[in-house]
Amino acid sequence: MAIVESIASTGPRRRLRARSPVTQEPIGEFDCATAEDVRLAVERARKAQGPWAEASFEERAAPMWRLLERVVARQDEIIEAVIAETGKARTEAIGMEVFAPCDAIAHYAKRAKQFLADEKRRPHGILGFTKKLRIVYRPLGVVGLITPWNGPVALSVNPAVQALMAGNAVVHKPSEVTPFSALLVQEMFEEAGLPDGLYQVVQGDGETGAALVEAGVDKVSFTGSVATGRKVGEACGRNLVPCTLELGGKDAMIVCADADLDRAAAGAVNGACMNTGHYCCGTERIYVVASVYDAFLEKTLARVRALRQSDQGETDVGAVFWDKQLEVMQAHVDDAEAKGARVLLGGRRNPELQGLYFEPTVVVGVSHDMDLMTRETFGPILAVQKVADEEEAIALANDSEYGLNGNVWTRDVEKGFRIAARIQTGGVCVNDMAITYGIAEAPFGGVKASGLGQVNGRSGIRGYCHAMPITADRKGTGEIQGGYPYTRKSEDGLQKFIRFYFGTRLGRWLS
Ligand code: NAD
Repeated sequence: MAIVESIASTGPRRRLRARSPVTQEPIGEFDCATAEDVRLAVERARKAQGPWAEASFEERAAPMWRLLERVVARQDEIIEAVIAETGKARTEAIGMEVFAPCDAIAHYAKRAKQFLADEKRRPHGILGFTKKLRIVYRPLGVVGLITPWNGPVALSVNPAVQALMAGNAVVHKPSEVTPFSALLVQEMFEEAGLPDGLYQVVQGDGETGAALVEAGVDKVSFTGSVATGRKVGEACGRNLVPCTLELGGKDAMIVCADADLDRAAAGAVNGACMNTGHYCCGTERIYVVASVYDAFLEKTLARVRALRQSDQGETDVGAVFWDKQLEVMQAHVDDAEAKGARVLLGGRRNPELQGLYFEPTVVVGVSHDMDLMTRETFGPILAVQKVADEEEAIALANDSEYGLNGNVWTRDVEKGFRIAARIQTGGVCVNDMAITYGIAEAPFGGVKASGLGQVNGRSGIRGYCHAMPITADRKGTGEIQGGYPYTRKSEDGLQKFIRFYFGTRLGRWLS
């Protein structure tokens, strides 16, 4: 039974039905917004954005603080909605879908004014004596926000609040797997008194997302798979619309000989299994230096055996959110096994549970000719490879089309930083995992196929603006320097100046 399926519609719009991955019972139906619906939403957003762009940061922050109050007050509803749609473990629903959005709202409500304040910059060298420069951060207009199913509230609220605090309006196309938590977010924005039209949800699948990209928005903030990211990037390129593409990953973990193996084993299990492995920065490849391989594996297996998977009460590893992903996981494990890997734990759908549960899995004897080590699996699977030394681990970590995050484990933190800097990826954690997106000060984004552009923090919120330089002549009166008429005398003067300014030590010091 598909988690999302098309059903007959009596109206003009395509209609979808969503099911719980836990009970597999229907949890609701919804209409897909048409291209015309999307166009109208963008039009409404544009009308609302004009006055919002003129509002002060305090005026913009007020509804954000009220939104924060609503999220805190309605956290149980959010948790229930997210669990109903995704089947994720309750602790993860609280941490990822309530705590993280609260942190993002407070962060930008408090700091947007500072991040986006007009800046005075002194032009370098001699220009500094004659010109003034100010940078003004102007909102872009209407932002098209397209989000995936693995962090439905966190990955919507964080960019939406940044875009709004920067003075934009947002039209949001959530994943078709998680439409109901998006409606809850919209409801809370309304309760918070955000002016009408500034945050609108258009429900639907890829077709609706594609329509949003084409609807005349001024920026696209996209989070999702590499395949869709390419399509979105192509459309944005054609329309000359800026975009950030936060895409998939295949994060590597490197366990050095001097690692705290208990912590590394715990980090491997958490990094691979959290959010049922549906985490863009999930640990998908584990390279362990030979001298500690056996000890690391033993500790890791013990921790994986201790994981609880249940559809009621306390649980560690939740359901697979989408049946499509379950097929990918199984195919990657089967491919690895067929090519000589050994499945030590799990490796299959949990036969004890009715819902879509994949057993926490440990696979060894893996290599880079297997999909499990090269393509995004997005499941609770630890693929562990023994390597001769750290150099081999780095080389293998870099042997990937992806580059989103990764982690390094060593008792020598400075060595950890050195190894981290040699990994061709978007960011790295040392003796830790999965935290980069949660630290607002860390610019977040992938390299290689993992994305384009970075989000979060000061530079992230500035990405929702045009940094507009306004220059002024210090004097503002009299002749234009270097202006007409061009004379032999002024040309000689300029050449003389070049010889001094760039051709002498004193000149270069001044430049
Ligand atoms: P997806 O690419 O299938 O869908 C993402 C969103 O795009 C959905 O809302 C979908 O309806 C929409 N969409 C689909 N086709 C479209 C099109 N042609 N034009 C515009 N929009 C379209 O991804 P998914 O399966 O929902 O999410 C999982 C992926 O997201 C994984 O690869 C994961 O690694 C990645 N992800 C990345 C980050 C990050 O920050 N880098 C965070 C979370 C998830």
